Amino acid sequence: MSVIFKTELDESRIQELFSSDEKCYEFLAEIKWSDGFTCRKCGNTNFCPGKTPHSRRCTKCKTEESSAAGTIFHNCKFPISKAFYIAYNVCKGKEDISTYEFARRLSLRQMTCWNFKTKIQNALEQMDSLTEREKSSIQKIFT
Ligand SMILES: [Zn+2]
Repeated sequence: MSVIFKTELDESRIQELFSSDEKCYEFLAEIKWSDGFTCRKCGNTNFCPGKTPHSRRCTKCKTEESSAAGTIFHNCKFPISKAFYIAYNVCKGKEDISTYEFARRLSLRQMTCWNFKTKIQNALEQMDSLTEREKSSIQKIFT
């Protein structure tokens, strides 16, 4: 099974991600645009900062793309830092944390945790059924 965050992050960086949504978006942006920015609509490579933290806006067609777009963290209904915590522990954790335990630690509803945990597990299991674009963006994060 693929492992999330292949690049070994040190403990302080991990704690930083778990405690700051802004750091999570920064982290995703680093991975997503590591080869530079290309607008998914028009292919332009110039951008300016978008409205949300670490999003990028195409200077030509003005399309804004969140650093989470195309990743499992897109449209997450709860803080992305909490989603990172679950994702990290599901993929890399040494202990199998129940969704009840996630809910308790993160002050989320158990159902919310269950849904997200299932989403991650499915994503990892069903890499083959994803589109190329989804696959490559998830792979960048999960492998
Ligand atoms: Zn564009």
